[in-house]
Amino acid sequence: MSSVKDTMGIWSKNPDGNRCAMCGGKNHMGETTYSVDLGESVIVVRNVPARICEVCGEEWIEDGTARELENVVETARKSGSQVEIVAFTR
Ligand SMILES: [Zn+2]
Repeated sequence: MSSVKDTMGIWSKNPDGNRCAMCGGKNHMGETTYSVDLGESVIVVRNVPARICEVCGEEWIEDGTARELENVVETARKSGSQVEIVAFTR
């Protein structure tokens, strides 16, 4: 069960995870900022590991990272703040 939605379109889109789903370009590991509006609160997670396309700049998050990100968002949501900004930690 997950309440986290891929509002930014940066969930992992390609099964092999190595090629950009948009242009097929190579990618390198970097970091991105993920934000999600849950209605009662907005969660911003910084320093999220992401693959970044070297050609078009498309960013996506690997499945394993996405699952960890869901936990981070769920924890932040329980804080009750309207806006919660957290750093991604494993
Ligand atoms: Zn690309």
